[in-house]
Amino acid sequence: MHSRDKIRNIAIIAHVDHGKTTLVDKMLQQSGTYRLNEAVQERAMDSNDLERERGITILAKNTAINYKDYLINIVDTPGHADFGGEVERIMKMVDGVLLIVDAFEGTMPQTKFVLRKALEQNLKPIVVLNKIDRPAARPSEVVDMVLDLFIELGATDEQLDFTVVYASALMGTSSMEPEVEKQENNMEAIFQTVVSKIPAPTESIDEPLQFLVTLMDYNEYLGRIAIGRLNRGIVKQGQTVAVINREGIVKQARIEKLFGFVGLKRIEIEQAGAGDIIALSGIKDINIGETIADPNNPEALPVLKIDEPTLQMT
Ligand code: GDP
Repeated sequence: MHSRDKIRNIAIIAHVDHGKTTLVDKMLQQSGTYRLNEAVQERAMDSNDLERERGITILAKNTAINYKDYLINIVDTPGHADFGGEVERIMKMVDGVLLIVDAFEGTMPQTKFVLRKALEQNLKPIVVLNKIDRPAARPSEVVDMVLDLFIELGATDEQLDFTVVYASALMGTSSMEPEVEKQENNMEAIFQTVVSKIPAPTESIDEPLQFLVTLMDYNEYLGRIAIGRLNRGIVKQGQTVAVINREGIVKQARIEKLFGFVGLKRIEIEQAGAGDIIALSGIKDINIGETIADPNNPEALPVLKIDEPTLQMT
């Protein structure tokens, strides 16, 4: 298990086309998490179909980057308002967000939608002004637009004091300075800001297990796969747990497999601890919003808002 202080759990939020996929791709490549031969064929976060063909279904929504001795878990968020519940749930799973804004286009409707959700969960966003290489990029105006949006959305003073990183995901460059000539030939400014500004998980591994099922995936070999953040304690493969449904009914179940994330892949792990973002399988009828807990301490976590069709999956 990773030392808790070396974990960073973040969500990445943006209006469509502002560069989420390209940015995560470059971060994977530069951190060396991607092996070079994979980089060519796979695009981060939309490689699901490719992976399915190979029979190793991955969760495009979850990416993990090894940067120095840190593990940066990145959860992708849908930008569309139909997925408000999902965005909200993801915001509860992370300790910080990267808000990506096109340095020419500026803030857009989906920027506002996802930023509102992040601010409501008391997260302090890091702003990545992307596409700084665009000839018509207007970084200082766009930073003002972002600031206005924060104010309009009722950001706290702490949230208003956001860090801005200027980047070109396309070129793989970044800098703390707005001038395009000052771009450094790597994404260090982004990595450094993430590890220095986003807090490590603070949950305790010494308390009874508690895990909230936040996202779901399905795979024909594994069945339902529950994804979330371990809120308390430690979980192990093969462990018997209590599952508490949304009505508070408790039953026992056994976890078959546990998975962590490396790059775009899900990898089997033996155990995980509080603060880790993991996937688990073996609980047949598990659903979003249910709590997996220590059978001797079957305490449910607060009920989550669910407003999209994901739940109707059988
Ligand atoms: P997403 O929808 O947020 O995942 O956006 P993508 O990463 O798919 O990028 C959308 C488009 O913008 C693609 O054509 C990218 O090549 C382009 N793009 C992404 N980052 C940059 C950048 O830093 N500079 C420029 N000029 N184009 C970029």
